[in-house]
Amino acid sequence: MSVTSWLTSKVKNWQIRREMGYPYEESRPEKQIAYVFDINKCIACQTCTVACKTTWTSGKGQEIMFWNNVETKPYGGYPIKWDLNILKSLDGQSWDKEGKYNGKTVFEAAPQGEKVLGWLPEEEDYSYPNIGEDECAETVEKGAFFSGIHKAWMFYLARICNHCTYPACLAACPRKAIYKRKEDGIVLIDQSRCRGYRECVRACPYKKTFFNLVTRISEKCIGCYPLIEKGEQPRCVQTCIGKIRLQGFLSKPDSPRKDNPIDFLVYVKKVALPLYPQFGLEPNVYYVPPIHVPKEFLYQMFGPGVDNAIETYKGAKDDKELLGAFLLFGSTDKIIHSFKVERDYTLGFNDKREMIAKVPLTEPIYVRPYFDKKVGTYRHNIP
Ligand code: SF4
Ligand code: SF4
Repeated sequence: MSVTSWLTSKVKNWQIRREMGYPYEESRPEKQIAYVFDINKCIACQTCTVACKTTWTSGKGQEIMFWNNVETKPYGGYPIKWDLNILKSLDGQSWDKEGKYNGKTVFEAAPQGEKVLGWLPEEEDYSYPNIGEDECAETVEKGAFFSGIHKAWMFYLARICNHCTYPACLAACPRKAIYKRKEDGIVLIDQSRCRGYRECVRACPYKKTFFNLVTRISEKCIGCYPLIEKGEQPRCVQTCIGKIRLQGFLSKPDSPRKDNPIDFLVYVKKVALPLYPQFGLEPNVYYVPPIHVPKEFLYQMFGPGVDNAIETYKGAKDDKELLGAFLLFGSTDKIIHSFKVERDYTLGFNDKREMIAKVPLTEPIYVRPYFDKKVGTYRHNIP
C-alpha cells in the first residue's frame, strides 16, 4: 500500500492556496459555522471555559474534557504540548512568496498504514489544563516598559473545535461515526456508531476530540447546535467577558459577502487568520493575531498573512467599516448575518434582515454637573 493511497480525492484548500489530498470529495456545507477571536482582547478569565464545562461536560468520565480551553502561549497547552508534538513531526513547513504552502499537510504526511499524521496523548497529558499560565517567554527585566513588540511576551489563546472544512477526526474514523452537517458545517460524533477506537483523538492536530473514560467512546464540541438552530451564538461566545468573539457563517471562498461580518473580517480585510493552516484542515476559527509578539512565532502559528492582518488591525480606528465589524463582537446573543455602518453606528441584522444590534462607533461621554442639586452632593468626573 502506498503512503498516500487513502487520499483518493483532490480538494481545494483556500487557506494554503493549493489542492491537497483528502480521503473524501470536496463537499462544502450550505453555510459554514465560523468564529473570529480577537486575541488582543482576551483576558484569560476562563468564563468561556466554565460556561462550556457547566453546559456540556460536567458528567462522569468528562473530567478531562475542555471543549473550550484558554491557554497562555508560549508555554501553555492542553493537552500538554498538543501543538509542539505535531509541529515537530510535520517536516518541511514552508510557504512561498505568494502565500502558497509548499510543505505537506497532516494528510499528505501520514505514515504508511495510517490516514493522518497524528499522535495519541497519554492520560497524564490531560492533567495540567493551566500549565504555563501567565508565564512570559522570558524574564521581565527591571525597568522594562511596554512598546511595540515585547521582549518578554505572552498571550492568551482561546481554543475550541474548529469545525474544519476537512476534519482529520472524520477522515480517520474507521466506523464513519463522525459527520459534518450539510446545513451549518458543524462536525459531530454519532455516539451510537462510535466504538472508542480513539482514531479521532490521535488524528485531530488540535486535540479537540476527547475520550470518555466511563462510556468508553469519544466526544467533542457540538458547536452548541441547539442554540445555532434557534439563531443564537454558542455559550462560549455569549458569555465572553472580553467580547473577543463573534460567531456567524462563512460563505464559500469564491462567493464572499462584504456585508457578512465574518466574510468581511476573514476574506475581505484578511484581518483574522486560521490556526496552523499548514496542517491542511481548513479550520474555521479565525484569529486576529496579537500585535506585541515576535513575528516568527506568529508566522508559524497563523501563516504568511500575519503582517497584513496586524497592519489592518492597527488601522481599524480610521476605517469605519472595520471598526463597525469589530464593535459587533459581544453586542448580541443572536447570530448576525449582515451588517452596515450608518452615520455613527454599526448595525447588525439577522437572517430576516431584522436589526438585532446597534452600537455607536464612539462611546458618548457624559459629564455630570459638579454639584448634583437633586441629591445635594458634589461629584467628581474622572476622565
Ligand atoms: S478541530 Fe479536530 S475535532 Fe474539530 S473538526 Fe477539526 S479535526 Fe475534528
Ligand atoms: S471569556 Fe472571553 S475574555 Fe474570558 S477567557 Fe474566554 S475568550 Fe478570553
